[in-house]
Amino acid sequence: PSAVAGRTVLVAGLGVSGAAAARVLLASGARVLLTDAARPGTVDELTGAGAEWLGATEALPAGVDLVVTSPGWRPDAPLLVDAAARGVEVVGEPELAWRLRVAGPDGAPAPWLAVTGTNGKTTTVTMLEAILLAAGRKAVAAGNVGRPLVEVVTAREDDGTPAYDVLAVELSSFQLHWSSSLFPAAAAVLNVADDHTDWHGSSAAYRDAKARILERAPVAVGDAGDPVAAALVGAHPRPVTVTLGEPAPGQLGVRDGALVDRAFAADPAGEVLLERDRLPVPGPHNVVNALAAAALARAAGVPAEAVARGLAGFSGGAHRNVLVATIDGVDYVDDSKATNPHAAGASLAAYPRVVWIAGGLLKGADVDPLVAAVAPRLAGVVLLGRDRAVVARSLARHAPSVPVVEVPSGDDGGMDGTGVTAEATTTRVVAAAAGLARPGDTVLLAPAAASMDVYRDYAHRGRAFADAVRAFGAGR
Ligand code: ADP
Repeated sequence: PSAVAGRTVLVAGLGVSGAAAARVLLASGARVLLTDAARPGTVDELTGAGAEWLGATEALPAGVDLVVTSPGWRPDAPLLVDAAARGVEVVGEPELAWRLRVAGPDGAPAPWLAVTGTNGKTTTVTMLEAILLAAGRKAVAAGNVGRPLVEVVTAREDDGTPAYDVLAVELSSFQLHWSSSLFPAAAAVLNVADDHTDWHGSSAAYRDAKARILERAPVAVGDAGDPVAAALVGAHPRPVTVTLGEPAPGQLGVRDGALVDRAFAADPAGEVLLERDRLPVPGPHNVVNALAAAALARAAGVPAEAVARGLAGFSGGAHRNVLVATIDGVDYVDDSKATNPHAAGASLAAYPRVVWIAGGLLKGADVDPLVAAVAPRLAGVVLLGRDRAVVARSLARHAPSVPVVEVPSGDDGGMDGTGVTAEATTTRVVAAAAGLARPGDTVLLAPAAASMDVYRDYAHRGRAFADAVRAFGAGR
């Protein structure tokens, strides 16, 4: 019998992972109650399958044994506070998935190789998935990257055996906050910078959530170049760090233009994994991501040759340092996924001279250290979005001679409020950037901020940028 059969479970928040949790709970024999701020379309399907829709509720109904909450709900939501006060357990969807894993023929469920970090999570787990598939494993990337974990841990082949034998798991700080017993076979904290402090309440609480991924993992992987990740991993009994420099024993790093493993190789001098040039994605940050993915795969016993094939065949992710077009000798790059200053810093480091498109919602992050660090690379800056004045003030301090164009947008809660469409704003942004660029420059959309003041999400922002760039090119 499953861990939840016969129990009453309240699913709070019915996004992709919440709805998937409700489905799996119903199939596992639980009594399922549903709540959310608004009534999503999936409610009809779920009530049809036996769930009960409570509407929006701030008080925990009587008789609930377990609450499954979603990343969109802050821990101080009244319902979750009420549950804590009454001693009712609250978990996230990954923790639920962990408890519902189905066992393989050998009696063991598929191991998890887990990744967290402020930036690089999705890139790293998709690289890891590519490596594991190249090694002939039945692998899947799941979790925060898209496919809900509850779905993949319970998926079976027609003959009843589990559909996957290893999972590349992306976990956000929100998901880790609500996890308590996950036991990954190996885990990575890529980096920890300011982000989402509004949700967690403080930078310390955010860092503590990230650290939870390492608690029970036998191998801890992290970027030696990131002070917080290095400290967290350094406190672990089996630390494996990755570096852009020459690897010391116990590290993965870069030597003579090749990615080298000195943590899991039989030869103490290390084993070459892949020539750096064969990595199909740009920038030092992607070398770090590749080394971290390789470390997790090696911890799971994958041979060097499969690491090489997996990484060389990796195609990169949408809106992550994607070259959209080259117009008049200027490269236009979409890194809309750079939604915080730390990501934008990595992105800017991949190009020598940049016309930087920045601004949006800073979510409480401090943009000043980033601006100070990237000032020498800036040929010009175009600012948009609600918090653009904050970035403008930093630029005036650290890069007073760099030309800055501000495009009014998103001041009053979004594109509808301003009466100007996101597309029209983006067209102005691209024209302004083109005006600042010289041949050889890169126009880089790496906003260091969230997008929801002007756009629906980062993908919408990236698509609008690519469309505006192509229209600009066609008009030349
Ligand atoms: P996440 O899933 O953590 O948001 P992604 O792999 O989607 O991470 O990358 C998001 C953005 O973060 C990228 O577009 C890039 O700008 C930046 N980035 C990627 N990898 C790293 C890294 N290792 N360190 C810093 N920034 C990174």
